[in-house]
Formats: sequence, structure tokens, C-alpha cells
Amino acid sequence: MVNGSCLCGDVRFELAGEPQFINHCHCSMCRKVHGAAFGSFLHADGAGFRWLAGEDKVRRFDSSPGNVRAFCERCGSNMPVLEEGGAHVIIPAGTLDDDPKLKPIVHIFTANKAPWYEITDHLPQFAGFPPDSFCDDLN
Ligand SMILES: [Zn+2]
Ligand SMILES: [Zn+2]
Repeated sequence: MVNGSCLCGDVRFELAGEPQFINHCHCSMCRKVHGAAFGSFLHADGAGFRWLAGEDKVRRFDSSPGNVRAFCERCGSNMPVLEEGGAHVIIPAGTLDDDPKLKPIVHIFTANKAPWYEITDHLPQFAGFPPDSFCDDLN
């Protein structure tokens, strides 16, 4: 079980089962909402996700059609978003309180990377979304 929470602690959640992967996204929207060089997201089967507290404190913002950003209304921390009718969950990795026992595997949307940040690891980089072939290899 992996637990997570927002900065103020009003919102708490847990994730059961095996997480799938972590990606770093350098798109301008992820940079804005994280206030950082990139956003780091843990992806997992939504069936294992459960709000423990404060689900009613989670506000939503549509950053682009079909792309919802969730955040704690009190402290502003980015919060998980359930997609595909709850089948998939995307969790801002910085909100995790436990070690998910897996490491980031890819940088995406590097075409929109902050000019002041240099990627210094050896993970694969893609200008936008990774090609289907890359995603297929994850399964
Ligand atoms: Zn909060
Ligand atoms: Zn992004």
C-alpha cells in the first residue's frame, strides 16, 4: 500500500496494487501547476485507488480539453486524477508519503522544456507523447 497526501493534510489517499510507471512531463501546463521544471506522475490501475479523507476538498481545473488538474482547495497541492471512468489514476509523485518502489522511466514533452533546465539523466526523451510502441513495451 502506498499512501499520499496534500501539504496541509486535509486530503489523503491510498493506492493498492502495483503502480505501473512514473513519467516526467515537461509541458508548459505541468510546469505551471507544479511550479517546477517538470511534473512527475505515477500511473496506476484506478481500481486500487481510494480517497481516505478530503475528497470534497479536491477542486478541479480543465487545463485543456480532456485534461483535468486537481488540487487541494486549502493548500493548492496537486492531487490525483482518475481517468477512463476510474480505470486509470495519475498521481503527482511528489504527494506520495511512501516509496512506490519504482523509478521514473521517461521524459515527455521535452519540446516544451524550460530553457533553464537541463536533463542530465539517460532516460528516453520524447518531444511529445511517447509513441505507442514505447507504451506497448510497458505492458
Ligand atoms: Zn491541502
Ligand atoms: Zn504535461
